[in-house]
Amino acid sequence: MLSLERSMIIAIVGAILLECNAASLPMQATGESNPKVKMYRENIVQAKTLENLDVQLDHFVGVSEDNGTILFMLSASDTEALAAFQNAYELDKDWRTIPAPLEYSFVMPGFIDAHVHAPQFDNMGVGYDMELLPWLKNYTLPLEEKFDMSGDGENGVPNEITADFVLNSYRSVVEKILDQGTTTASYYATVDPHATLTLAKQVQDLGQRAYVGKVNSDINMPAGLKETTAQSIASTKWFIEAVQDLDSPLITPVISPRFALGASFELMTQLGDIARQYNLPVQTHLDENKHEVADVLAAYPFATSYTDVYAQAGLLNVSHIILGHCVHLTDAEIAQLGTYNTSVGCAHCPLSNYALNSGIAPVRKYLGADLRMGLGSDVAGGYSSDMLQVMRGAILASKSLYFAHDWDEEEWAPLEYYGVLNLATKGSAAIMGLGDQVGTLEPGYQWDALHIDLRAKNSMTSLEYIPDASEVGLSLTMDELVSKFIYEGDSNNIVTVWVNGQVVKDKTEST
Ligand SMILES: [Zn+2]
Repeated sequence: MLSLERSMIIAIVGAILLECNAASLPMQATGESNPKVKMYRENIVQAKTLENLDVQLDHFVGVSEDNGTILFMLSASDTEALAAFQNAYELDKDWRTIPAPLEYSFVMPGFIDAHVHAPQFDNMGVGYDMELLPWLKNYTLPLEEKFDMSGDGENGVPNEITADFVLNSYRSVVEKILDQGTTTASYYATVDPHATLTLAKQVQDLGQRAYVGKVNSDINMPAGLKETTAQSIASTKWFIEAVQDLDSPLITPVISPRFALGASFELMTQLGDIARQYNLPVQTHLDENKHEVADVLAAYPFATSYTDVYAQAGLLNVSHIILGHCVHLTDAEIAQLGTYNTSVGCAHCPLSNYALNSGIAPVRKYLGADLRMGLGSDVAGGYSSDMLQVMRGAILASKSLYFAHDWDEEEWAPLEYYGVLNLATKGSAAIMGLGDQVGTLEPGYQWDALHIDLRAKNSMTSLEYIPDASEVGLSLTMDELVSKFIYEGDSNNIVTVWVNGQVVKDKTEST
């Protein structure tokens, strides 16, 4: 009975919708007539910096139904502003009738996975007795070969079975990470442009915001993943135009050379040109594993570093490049990356770096040198696509550095739960070049958000079993609840997910 009553209240709190006529709205300068506004009332939490959690208790949020943009955020205690707002929007429903938020719930920005390989999910948790290069050869590349939709059936599997496998595999990936609260992802697919387009279509159908990349690889590949430099360029252009034909404002093609050992210098150079020609972002891997770094330096004797290979190929001189891992950057590389200012960022992938024994990226050191940092799961080098797990991994990785260094030095201070929340939202948005659109909940940003209920049914958080925690002296502050969610929560606590103002997951009814 308690559960039913509570679920009814959550339904009201989580999805209050007020339709209003905003013809005379002073905050709308577009001249559009009668825009509809969705209105929510909740506690709002986010981490705008690495060092603080921002908590706004009991606030109203107005979201444009037309384009998902946050129009206003007002404190429920600011009755004067709310009254003015109600007049301005000609609301047909009184804001005073909307119930206050519950004690155990809040709204926060959606998670942004800045580095994830969609075809590798079947390998999560497998092969971690190997390091990067043998793991790629023995596990990853054989799996990616199964996404070959070239139509010749040479891999021994009938084409219709391959097409079904690709569609079902990619659809389940997008469904899974939306359920886990990942509202934006930067995907690598495979070299196959048709399979990669299938991924883009699933992303579009399920309503996620994403970068989708056809992988480029013309050297050191097995037969099923081999493409010539010319084929790689031609199929990249075909894929870009096919995604543009989808006409989805949420999906962007991302140029994706696998890494310096999988793409020739000529191919990387031409891909940089394409990125500039189409004004598209780039993603690749950098300084992940020491053996990989040694092999890169041997393969490119004219370059002073791994970073310098990409610099000389023109890959860093683009609108944005997301560099996965950045574990072993030298001081010279940090300085070189710094010269590119906001266009270059690193995706910290702690679960993968531990699973494949790659090392620990010194996040605070890089941030101190003005490098931008976000977070990535790097499935299937990483063993979980759940950004909560990735954040926990980032905390533990930072503590490993802290234990191994001088505890008084600021650059080795461990990251706290709000620090990794900042990386998983605002940080990842920044390195994807989306920092003025998502990752933050403020007027002008898009409503990509999660509704968190610490007492949701089937969640692992122990609060579910406490009928009234405050009565027995277990009341937690909002900061403590957010900490509890990040350390202990799971996708069951994420009862609603919005992308661009649209609901893409709603478990409110079933809680
Ligand atoms: Zn990767």
